[in-house]
Amino acid sequence: MTRPMGDSHRRFLQAMMANGIVDEPGAKTLHQHSCETHNAHYAHDRLDEFIEVINSQLQPMFMQIRKGMSEDNGLQYYALVNMAETDVTRMSSDYADNELELFRKTMDLIVGSETGTASSTDILNSADSLQTKKLKKSETEHLLSRLVLDRWLSEKRGDYTLSTRCIIEMEPYIRTMYQDQVKVCHICHNIAFQCQICEKPTCGIKIHNPCVAIYFKGRSEPRCPVCDDFWPHEIPEVRRLQSQPRR
Ligand code: ZN
Ligand code: ZN
Repeated sequence: MTRPMGDSHRRFLQAMMANGIVDEPGAKTLHQHSCETHNAHYAHDRLDEFIEVINSQLQPMFMQIRKGMSEDNGLQYYALVNMAETDVTRMSSDYADNELELFRKTMDLIVGSETGTASSTDILNSADSLQTKKLKKSETEHLLSRLVLDRWLSEKRGDYTLSTRCIIEMEPYIRTMYQDQVKVCHICHNIAFQCQICEKPTCGIKIHNPCVAIYFKGRSEPRCPVCDDFWPHEIPEVRRLQSQPRR
């Protein structure tokens, strides 16, 4: 069903087009601001319905505002995503073929790792084996900073992860492409890269770091929710309330 958009919806959409991705507190503020600016009815608990109206209009253009969780802080984010292209080719207007090949290799490294990260050294090494056109070290470094700036990757101390925006936008592609390697978080059932893994070989469930923090909070002896084995990892602190708009 297509419902008409008002000026408040248009204002919200324009901000989403300018930012690409906003965290939930930011989206709530934007929702309120958009409604108040245009004297539209504002219900603070109706953000998802407000977005559904916009999505019903975006559908014919193969666009959607989609919600997903940040693996860094556990916050929900809203991203404006392109649904027409289902793979990395959606980036082809901004990146050359060999740059996309390197991005795919980086994804392979990240998905194939236990920690959901790829080191800059490993990425630089894989740049030597590009089929399309080799990239020099300086070109690779420049490309990596562009991928971070465009919010496809995140970087922390030389380790690269898939950004929240990338996970929200590419999730269908990643699930198809890496079927056997991809696992979901036992707690939130979203796709999981940066996470803790149960060490019992027959179990091996994954839980996102922020989900670990919430699940084990206040439990004296952490045990795996599936096999009941001792959970040997360090339990991170709950950081849910920290807002990090540019992930
Ligand atoms: Zn989770
Ligand atoms: Zn287990």
